[in-house]
Amino acid sequence: MNIILFGPPGAGKGTQAEKMISHFNLPHLSTGNIFRENIKNKTTLGKKVTSILDAGELVPDKIVVELVADELGKEKYDKGVILDGFPRTVKQAEELDTYMNQNGKKIDSFVTLTVPEEELINRILSRGQGRSDDTPEKIKTRLQVYRDETEPVLNHYQNQDVVKEIDGVGSIDEIFGRIKTALT
Ligand code: AMP
Repeated sequence: MNIILFGPPGAGKGTQAEKMISHFNLPHLSTGNIFRENIKNKTTLGKKVTSILDAGELVPDKIVVELVADELGKEKYDKGVILDGFPRTVKQAEELDTYMNQNGKKIDSFVTLTVPEEELINRILSRGQGRSDDTPEKIKTRLQVYRDETEPVLNHYQNQDVVKEIDGVGSIDEIFGRIKTALT
């Protein structure tokens, strides 16, 4: 089962991804986590993307798509994946479609978490993970980038009839319950 977990920054994608990993027994692929890991380890990729993540901007499509294609080629994703934070542009979605087609795979579900903007900002500011892009100014940029570049990805998948819209307000378990119902 190949699932895309979608939503604005602060919607709870990471939290719900953790629950989905154990429930559905699927591997997690978070592009944000991979970038942060590379930054921490000061790899070539990490050095390339540090200032982009710090600014709350998007890493260029070419870099992200190559990274995901490399990763998805690994055996551990043969049975499926939970994609978290990818695709984030229509171009990335198109490239993912091509990759899936070429490899005899498909996206089964596109789970989108809906949360009002005010709550998103409060959640990010209170999650206290010490992320360098979790300051009020950076959050504003990330939400703007989401509206401009990422939201159109939802329309892209609406045409494929795989979208499950989930109310992302409530307790972690309530929201997870909605996801389980939508996916079974
Ligand atoms: P996240 O942990 O998903 O919020 O991602 C953190 C940051 O990593 C984003 O603000 C972007 O700078 C970068 N990033 C993660 N995924 C992508 C992607 N699919 N395309 C472009 N940039 C990304």
